[in-house]
Amino acid sequence: MSQPKPRRKSDRIAQWQHTLAPDGLLPPDWSTCVCGDLAIAFEQADAGISIRSLYDLRLQREMLAATPAPLFVITLFNGDDDLPISADAGWGQTELRKAAGGITLKWSEPLDERLGRLNVWLHATMDAQHHMLNWTMTATNSLSPCSVRRVIFPQAALRKFDGRAVVFIPSGPGELKRNAWDESWKYDQPYGQAWCSMQFMAAYAEGAEAGGLYLGAHDPFGSAKELRALSDPETHTVTLQYDIPAPELLRPGNGFRFSGEACWQLLRGDWFDAAQIYRRWCAQNARWWPVRPREDTPMWMREVGAWLQINYEPGENVQAIRRFREYMGVTVAVHWYNWHQIPFDNDYPHYFPEKTGFADVIRELHQWGVASMPYINGRLWDTRDRGAEDFEFTRLALPAATKDMDGKPFVERYGSIEADGSPVTLAVMCPTTELWQERVREITLRLINAIGADGVYIDQVAAAKPVLCVDPSHGHPLGGGHWWNEGYWDMIDRIRQALPPGRMLTTECNAEGFIRQFDGYLTWHWQHDTMVPAFQAVYGGLILTFGRSYSGDALAQRMKAAQQYIFGEQIGWFAPAVIDQPDVAVFLRRVIRLRNGLSRYFSAGEMLRPPKFEGQLPQVTADWKWYGECRVTTDAVLTGAWVIRGEHRMVMLFANVSDAEVRALLHFDRRDHDIDFDNAQLTVHFPDEVDAPAETVGARFHRTVTFAPQTAVAWELTW
Ligand SMILES: [Zn+2]
Repeated sequence: MSQPKPRRKSDRIAQWQHTLAPDGLLPPDWSTCVCGDLAIAFEQADAGISIRSLYDLRLQREMLAATPAPLFVITLFNGDDDLPISADAGWGQTELRKAAGGITLKWSEPLDERLGRLNVWLHATMDAQHHMLNWTMTATNSLSPCSVRRVIFPQAALRKFDGRAVVFIPSGPGELKRNAWDESWKYDQPYGQAWCSMQFMAAYAEGAEAGGLYLGAHDPFGSAKELRALSDPETHTVTLQYDIPAPELLRPGNGFRFSGEACWQLLRGDWFDAAQIYRRWCAQNARWWPVRPREDTPMWMREVGAWLQINYEPGENVQAIRRFREYMGVTVAVHWYNWHQIPFDNDYPHYFPEKTGFADVIRELHQWGVASMPYINGRLWDTRDRGAEDFEFTRLALPAATKDMDGKPFVERYGSIEADGSPVTLAVMCPTTELWQERVREITLRLINAIGADGVYIDQVAAAKPVLCVDPSHGHPLGGGHWWNEGYWDMIDRIRQALPPGRMLTTECNAEGFIRQFDGYLTWHWQHDTMVPAFQAVYGGLILTFGRSYSGDALAQRMKAAQQYIFGEQIGWFAPAVIDQPDVAVFLRRVIRLRNGLSRYFSAGEMLRPPKFEGQLPQVTADWKWYGECRVTTDAVLTGAWVIRGEHRMVMLFANVSDAEVRALLHFDRRDHDIDFDNAQLTVHFPDEVDAPAETVGARFHRTVTFAPQTAVAWELTW
């Protein structure tokens, strides 16, 4: 049984200190820092400073692991060896100074003389109201023979502080890892690509005393970094870690400054609340945050209801697209692949000439209200770019390709092969170079202006990690930093400036850094179990999301469509023949048409906390067939909620993907959704049926709802 919780803060602090030392008297070399309910203890020993406690005063919960992780680890390179040094050992001098509203820690005089004069400062400002510490970090090593290569900061090793503790990782839309402390697993991803879309992680307890720790890198430029969550099941420890390649990592004396601030915050709530912390910070600081609402995105694009994905073949396609469009009865857009004569993932970027009749088909489809968006790649140049011949790569592209430390271009292979059977090897181009910026611009504008495309899909920009190019002729900081993002910002901004009205740009996956530059993100990779829409909770209404890979059986496809509906995505991408599969098509048509009447929520609104039913709903499981078997389990009824605050309306979305009727008790409380009204008009929208008559509801109500099999419904509240 836990001890009673003292009410006075001083008593809580005393109780915390008793957990650290039996008599409540901490050793003289320990210092404490209390920030709201977040209490931290540091030990300042001769050779380093360590963290000893990370404590939630209100929930009386120690979160720090028995063996804490160092506050930072810096790896320097002296020309021969990597020389790591951490915060807790190896220093000749340390300082810890507390002042009103903050704390400063300093390390200097490393014992290893090869490190030269390395100084490290951490400074935290305290926000007691939010139980939050915001850290800056600076390291200087001027006149040093070493260069700073990598910096691990921030990091925290956490114990299993609750039986229902989970870890949130920003993979795709966000994912939860349950049993994280008891299983051997790891999350280890470069930030700025499909599997690491945002810069925050969290560990929290699910259930009544929800809460835990939010650990964010609040970096307004989105610099290159790696995010990790590492488990040690033997000690039941999970370590959350940010590992940052230093800018100018080849230059001795380069030093390091953490871009932005590292945020440690007590989390009250769950993934949705963690997303709100990050969202509030982004809205004020992130360089990729766009102007709301996104009126720079054409109205037709905001209203696309369904996406097709088609390989272009002269003389085919049009009738099937027309049938699909007539069946769905909404604005349809086609994502065109293989419209070019070169093979896929081969001979890039020589996309022209197009296959015959492509421009005519685009024009014809306009008559049927169908928009066209051809594929190009925004990152790759084939190293043998005319069949098996090196046509322009070495002569023209090589100077603008990214280079590794040996001066060789970074290359990638995607399984495509040349006519002679050898693999196609594609070089990653450096986005800061005039040559590559101009080439992508030229191709995009030719598709728009000469071919008549309504938009262009520029593959991989928000899907693939920044490459740590060290080519000095490019003029960007070598290695780490935020020059990669800035290169793409310049490139896409220049294209946007030249776009005629009514056209748009999209890219692959959902790395956050390019939201301002694009109108839509292809979120085809949102395919995993235990996903949560944290990305949408941060960015819903600021970037359109569209397109999942529709593999799997009928149930799997209904689950994907329902999840797209509640996540606020434009639904697709399909082959037109999907309408001939009745056990999929009927449901698709329902969610697509229902969503269509609500589409403004997803281009001008915000995501709210999803509604919850009382008790456990029946669940469904299907193999989503994502790169092999991929079993995904969800509730039979998926739920979401969106708001347009300025228009005083919100909507709750429900979709029953199962074959059975589901009855569930809904408790609505406006406070769960951070909205304010005493009474509202509730209108229930059904697909292809007349709305139920509106009724008045209060700020809180309970209702048992019956969801028919394979159908969707939306409850709209206006006030
Ligand atoms: Zn470069």
